[in-house]
Parts: sequence; structure tokens; C-alpha cells
Amino acid sequence: MSDHTQSTAAKTPQTLQPTIGLEIHVELKTATKMFCDCANDPHEAHANTNVCPVCLGHPGTLPTINKKAIESLIKVGLALGAQIAPYTKFDRKNYFYPDLPKGYQISQYDLPLVSGGAINGIRIRRIHMEEDVGRLQHIGQTSVIDYNRASVPLMELVTEPDVRSADEAVAFARQLQLILRYLGVSDADMEKGQMRIEPNVSLNMGTKVELKNINSFKAVHDGIEYEIQRHTKALETGEQLRQETRGWDEQKKATVHQRFKEDAHDYRYFPEPDLPPLVPAEIFDLELLKNTIPELPQAKRARLLEQYPLTADQADILVNDPASARYFEESASELSEKIPADPPLHVLANYLLSDIRGFISQRQMELSDLRIPPEHFAHLIALVHEKKITTRQAKDMIPLMHEKNADPEELIESGGFQAAGEDRIASVVDEVIAQNEKVAGDYKNGKTAALQFLIGKAIGALKGAADPQTLTELFRQRLK
Ligand code: ZN
Ligand code: MN
Repeated sequence: MSDHTQSTAAKTPQTLQPTIGLEIHVELKTATKMFCDCANDPHEAHANTNVCPVCLGHPGTLPTINKKAIESLIKVGLALGAQIAPYTKFDRKNYFYPDLPKGYQISQYDLPLVSGGAINGIRIRRIHMEEDVGRLQHIGQTSVIDYNRASVPLMELVTEPDVRSADEAVAFARQLQLILRYLGVSDADMEKGQMRIEPNVSLNMGTKVELKNINSFKAVHDGIEYEIQRHTKALETGEQLRQETRGWDEQKKATVHQRFKEDAHDYRYFPEPDLPPLVPAEIFDLELLKNTIPELPQAKRARLLEQYPLTADQADILVNDPASARYFEESASELSEKIPADPPLHVLANYLLSDIRGFISQRQMELSDLRIPPEHFAHLIALVHEKKITTRQAKDMIPLMHEKNADPEELIESGGFQAAGEDRIASVVDEVIAQNEKVAGDYKNGKTAALQFLIGKAIGALKGAADPQTLTELFRQRLK
């Protein structure tokens, strides 16, 4: 092989390996802030109302540790299969910025509360506890500051550089978000800034670029993709890349330079003198905490697929929406009582995920607003299964069941919802054939599409009280 072919081979894009690490900050949902008893409500509309001398960093004030925040972080660690530090402490990270009233952030440096663990095979290096900063806004020539968010409990998670693509990064972040929601420790809403993701990207272990100001999963994906493209191009053209921090510009759909790494801060970390070190096992019963961890998304998915006749997509929808999953399982249990031998659970799943969810989104409601308890819903499915009502009638009954908070049986009794008897269906089929002789003839002569027309006529005449399948069979018999 000549030198020429070798150098060409080295330049083919397939040999470029992206190395991506993630740094993720999440605001924890607690009643009060991290080191004082101000309300933890960063979205309070009135600026600077949830503040006190402690979180404003007045001299002579002393912080106290929020036990609930520490407990939440330990739960996260236990859920992710990580180690809880036997001994940990807080440190001061010193820098000046107007959103940081104390002139330092209380964080954790060399002894994070949590280390190790993994999500989707991507290793987690550490998760530590710190406090959020205030919100700085620039309005025209003026800058204003709101300290309602200052000192809100913040967890910082750092992964090993195990991520290989934009899709893997998003999958990791989504899974983390879901786990945090299952644990109830954070809503982790990216749009509200409750979860902030900062990926760092390099190619073939070359120059590393950090991305900031990303506020959606799509921006995480697009920002990483953009950087992979930019680095690939630079390697091909021989352009020199620099270590830098870049932001994501949603308008330009591009990353933009923010600052070079040369002016990286030296934070002069030192142990926080106003807080005692922590020995978690002395404060918490870790075994007891472990037992409070609910069934987590992956385990739930596996169990749902094993226990019920669901498709993978249906299981995913339920895993991502715990309220729907609960409703499904309660309805399934009701249905299994009504029809113990082979309950039609796949029918139940289909009606829930298409009709009930469709009805809810159409009315812009939450599942908790639905006035169809699982028992009524299961009853509806049983009636369809027993062919006492048609599928069309079942769909029409859903809004009425909600409005009247009624069991389907009551609606059948009050009229209009009952599958037509065999005799009635047969006579309507005969009538339709008699009134549409030409179309019926077309069907007999092999024009199969004509059948749909006849079925449509019959459904109209029966006002939906017969199923298309029943009608199809009957027409086929009559027009042999
Ligand atoms: Zn305060
Ligand atoms: Mn941080």
C-alpha cells in the first residue's frame, strides 16, 4: 500500500470517533432553599421576595444544610446504582459575578456526595450538591437581578466521556429526567431551566469544546451534531480548533463562540468553614431510603411487557406517563375481575392509548380530570368484548360517560347504545342490497371496492349499532 492511499484512508469520516461528556445541573424540588429557610420557588413572579440575609450573603450570617435536599440526592444515587460517600463536605467555589451575591458558590469539590452509577451503559463520574445562582436580565441599557433563585438546591451530575453521538446524549438526558420524576425529587423541566445540560464534544480525543445555554433536548441534539460536523470539517481542511466554550443560537441553528478556555477561572476551592462535614449514614437510614425508591422506568417497562399484551410503543408511552400507566393497570385489574378467563387487555390498551388519550388531549384536560373511573372504563371494554355494544358506540360513549360520570350500562339503558340484534342487521342488509342493485351487481362481478359502499349504507341505516366486521361477513354471504 502506498503512502498516498494510507493518508486518504485516515481522512475518511468513518474513522472519526466523537467523544462526548455531559454536565447536567438540576434544581431539586424542596420546600426551602439549600442553606436558609426561604421558599424554594424560583418562578415567583415578584423579584427578590424569596430572599433573606443568609442567601444574600450578608456578613455574619450562617448557612444550615437542607436535609431534604441531601436525602433527594442520596435517593438519586441509590436509584442509579452509585456509591454514597461515607464522608463528605462542602467547599467554596470562589468567583465574582453579579448573580452570585456571596462572591462564592457553596459546592462540593473533592468529596462529592455521590459517585459512580450509570444510565444506558454511560458511566456517571460524580453527582454533587450545590446551590443555584440568581437570575440576571439585561433590559436595554439596564441590567436587573432577581435573587429568588439564588441558593435553590442544585445537583450537578458529570458523566464519563462515554457518549458517542447526539442521540445517545439525548437518550441519557431523557432517561435521567424520567428517573428524577419517578423519584419525585425534581420536575426537571428544561424549558423552565430546572434541568440544564452542558455537553462537551471532541473528535478523536482532539480539542474539546463545551456547549452552554442549551434549553431543550432538540438543542442538545442539534448542538452536538453541529460540533461534530464543525470538527470533522476542521480535521479535513487542517484548520486549527481551539478549546472554547460555545453557546447554541436557536435562530442561526449554530453554535457560537462565547469564551476561550485560556481565561478559565481558578476558583480557589477551599472547605466551607461555616458547615460541618457530613457522614450520611449517621443522618439517614440508607437501607430504609433504598426501600422508598419506586419501581424505576426500565424495570417498569420490562414488567409491563411481561404482564400485559402490549406493543413496545405502548409500553413506552405508559412508562413515560406514570398517570396513564396507573390508570391502565387499575382498569386491567377491573377487567380481569369481570372477565377472568382471557380478559381482552389488548383492547383495553388500544382504547386507552387512542380513544381516552385522544379525548383528553382534545379537551385539553389532564387524566386526573377524567370523570371515567377505571371501573367504568373496564366495563365499557367488557361490553364491547361481549358484543353488547359496537366499537363505534363505545367510542361515542366515552364523552357521555365523562360528562354524566356514568357507568356505560346506565347509558345503554337510557337508550341509543345497544348493538342491533341479528334479525335487525339481516333485514337492513337485505334492504340495502335491494335499494342498491347496481352496486351489489358490481360486487358480484368482482368489483370488491363496491362492498365498502354497501357497508357504509348499512352502518348509516343502523346508526352505528352494528360492527363493520359483522356487516362484511353478512354482505359476503348474501352476495356470493
Ligand atoms: Zn434565604
Ligand atoms: Mn455547578
